[in-house]
Amino acid sequence: MSCLFCRIIAGEILGSRVYEDEALLAFDDIHPQAPMHVLIVPRLHVPMLNALDSSHDALVGSMIRRAAAIAKGRGFDESGYRTVFNCNAQAGQTVFHIHLHVLGGRPMAWPPG
Ligand code: 5GP
Ligand code: ZN
Repeated sequence: MSCLFCRIIAGEILGSRVYEDEALLAFDDIHPQAPMHVLIVPRLHVPMLNALDSSHDALVGSMIRRAAAIAKGRGFDESGYRTVFNCNAQAGQTVFHIHLHVLGGRPMAWPPG
């Protein structure tokens, strides 16, 4: 299995798991860019946003709602947090298994770098 996140999902690589259910896994980013930096990934291997179709709508919705729940659980729902999907090289995507970054605990600049 060559996909890094599929290997984390399979338990071949141990990560700090934050949440899991039958469809999703959330774990701490290995190089956190904020006090909270969680990655939410579907168990289904979808390489990037460009590969989504309508069959994934509920799955992506559950990823976004899980991001809000995790941020709320960490106490960042009122202060604020950021969610990011990077798609392809110029946006900074390095792992080609769709993932939602959930960042919080510090001020976030806009526009993003
Ligand atoms: P991307 O740059 O593709 O949007 O995000 C990939 C993220 O995966 C990066 O923030 C990077 O730090 C994280 N990452 C890369 N390898 C690992 C790993 O082995 N374990 C964990 N937990 N995160 C990783
Ligand atoms: Zn994968």
